[in-house]
Amino acid sequence: MQKETIALHAGYEKDSQGTMAVPIYMSTAYEFRDSEHAANLFALKELGNIYTRLMNPTSAVFEKRFAELEGGVAAIATASGMAAIFSCIVNLCEAGDNILVANAVYGGTSTLTDHTIKRFGIETRKFDVTNPSALEDLIDEKTKLILFESLSNPNLQVADFDTIVKVANKYNIITVVDNTVATPMLCNPIKLGCDIVVHSTSKYTTGQGLALGGIIVDSVSSGEKIKGNDRYTHFNEPDASYHGLVYSDLPFPPFIMRILLSVLRDLGAAPSPFNSWLMIQGLETLSLRMKQHSASALKVAQFLESHPNVKKVNYPGLKSDTNHNRAVQYLDGGFSGLLSFEVDSLETAKKIVDNIEIFSIVVNIGDSKSIITHPASTTHQQLSAQELEEAGIGAGLIRLSIGLEDTDDLIEELKKVL
Ligand SMILES: *Cc1c(COP(=O)(O)O)cnc(C)c1O
Repeated sequence: MQKETIALHAGYEKDSQGTMAVPIYMSTAYEFRDSEHAANLFALKELGNIYTRLMNPTSAVFEKRFAELEGGVAAIATASGMAAIFSCIVNLCEAGDNILVANAVYGGTSTLTDHTIKRFGIETRKFDVTNPSALEDLIDEKTKLILFESLSNPNLQVADFDTIVKVANKYNIITVVDNTVATPMLCNPIKLGCDIVVHSTSKYTTGQGLALGGIIVDSVSSGEKIKGNDRYTHFNEPDASYHGLVYSDLPFPPFIMRILLSVLRDLGAAPSPFNSWLMIQGLETLSLRMKQHSASALKVAQFLESHPNVKKVNYPGLKSDTNHNRAVQYLDGGFSGLLSFEVDSLETAKKIVDNIEIFSIVVNIGDSKSIITHPASTTHQQLSAQELEEAGIGAGLIRLSIGLEDTDDLIEELKKVL
């Protein structure tokens, strides 16, 4: 089945009322038939609803649909994209471990991996996704995951999937790919050999800036890497917090089962069923929107590239972009709606941001309304000068999230402020 069809139908069987739209099951808990039923659910002898921190019928439709769109085997929705990323890290790591993280990632991911997890005793080692030749040198027996973005926010680098996957498979290390900017419509990291995909569904999935959400998608390959692997002993030995359960012995994907049974249980970053319902509405039009976002962004990028006051444009759809070849290789159907460009100074950048119309100054992306952001003073403000430089975020860098307005109207506005 094609993604357009999956996005509308997968994971939902109409209830007894024949309800066309997926119902919103606003319920904290679920009644057990009897005490044996309850015991069976807790013992995983039977699968079923227990409590909405762990599962919910509305969220389940969203999860099944998203897993299928990504070519994965199962998915778990979370309260936000950051909750999804943090959950993946704690699912694999403990104090003393290290993780490999791309040096250009979303601001929140950057502070999480550089600072917050350090306090948990987990070390972050950085690498360049466009040239991951040094990746192997960073790996030791305590390396538990490789985290990177398929299309990085905000400087739009396209990861060299083949090289990263080759190294990850050689050492049996799990790859976690943040596919937020590309969306499952343009890129499917699992099909490119990666193990886990995460998204902030707050962006293109909801599509209108309506709600926070995240999702974690699992694959067959993560289970194969985990089983019997000394790197991941906590999946292969009895879990004392779940009466001796051994995750890799379950007839279900171990990574996502541990997220559900241990991480969600203990951290509680579950989505509201209402937000999952909003995400389902977003998925229905995601394919159409990504085509339009991509077509418009390419046209805007071409305009900016031709403008004398623009020093550089980062958009992988441009032939001149250093990421273009990888973008053509790994993306299908467009290059998404995010681009960034550089002007000569902080002052010029501020002037543009303050005077432009139609575009709103907002630290979000993937909205149907166009957005302008100055990363150095907002999303990436917490980064040091050196960290900014490593992430390729200069003082004159402006990020645009191209919405669904008429493209020529957007170009007219940019012309005026430039
Ligand atoms: C926004 C974003 C996140 C964080 O997601 P939230 O839903 O805001 O928590 C993570 N990664 C990328 C690439 C993002 O754009």
